[in-house]
Amino acid sequence: MKTESLCLHAGYTPKNGEPRVLPIVQSTTFTYDSTAEVAKLFDLETSGFFYTRLGNPTVDAVEQKIAALEGGVGALCTSSGQAANLIAILNVAQSGDHVVSMASIYGGTFNLFAVTLKKMGIEVTFVDQRADDAEIEKAIRPNTKAVFGEPLTNPSMDVLDIERIAALAHRHGLPLIVDNTFATPVLCRPFDFGADIVVHSTTKYMDGHALQMGGVIVDSGKFDWTSGRFPEFTEPDASYHGL
Ligand code: PLP
Repeated sequence: MKTESLCLHAGYTPKNGEPRVLPIVQSTTFTYDSTAEVAKLFDLETSGFFYTRLGNPTVDAVEQKIAALEGGVGALCTSSGQAANLIAILNVAQSGDHVVSMASIYGGTFNLFAVTLKKMGIEVTFVDQRADDAEIEKAIRPNTKAVFGEPLTNPSMDVLDIERIAALAHRHGLPLIVDNTFATPVLCRPFDFGADIVVHSTTKYMDGHALQMGGVIVDSGKFDWTSGRFPEFTEPDASYHGL
C-alpha cells in the first residue's frame, strides 16, 4: 500500500461482519469471565485490553496506522504532542542525565526542555543544527542519553540534516529523537534517514481538521539499546515484578 492507502487502511482490518469504519471504543475498562484472565493480562503473560490508559482498541489501531505511515515497528499515543515529547525523553533519561537538542525547535518544547526538565534534574544543551559535527559533538557528555531535533522546525522552517545528525548521534551510541509534527510522514519519513524515534503533535497536520489534541511516539525498532547506557531497557524492571 502507498501512503494514501495506509492513511485509510493501516491499523484496522475488519473481519467478516465487522464494521467497515473503525469503531470508537468508549470504555475505560474491558470485561473478562474470570479474575484469573485479568491477572494474566496484568502480568503481561497474554496481550489484550483491560484498561484504556494502557490500551484501547481504537487507540491501538491509530498507533498501528501511524507506525505503518512512519515505517516503524510500534507506536504509543499520548494526550498531546507536549506529552509525547516529555515521555519520549523520560523513557531514556532520568535525574542526573543530559540531552543534546537542536536550538531551533517549537517554543513549548524549548520551555519543556530548558525549564521543566531542568527542575526534574535532566539538563539539556541546545546546539545550532547548522554547526559542524565537531562543534555539536562538544556538547555530548558521558551522561548524554539522546539527541533531539525537528526535521522541519517550528516556526523557522529550517530543514534538519537528519542523516548527518543521526550518524553523529550513533557514533556516540545515542538515539536520535525527532519531532516530525510539521513534515508528517507524508512529506518526510525520518526513519529512512537514520532517526530512531519519531514524535508527533497529532494536534496539527496529522489531525487535519483542528478537532483533536493528541501526540504519538513511534519506534523505528532499529536502535541498539544494549550498550549499557540504557539500563532501563536491559535490566529487570521493579515496576513489573522484575520483568
Ligand atoms: N511539537 C511541535 C513541532 C509543535 O508545533 C507543537 C505545538 O504547537 C508541539 C510539539 C506540542 O504539541 P501539543 O500542542 O499537541 O501539546
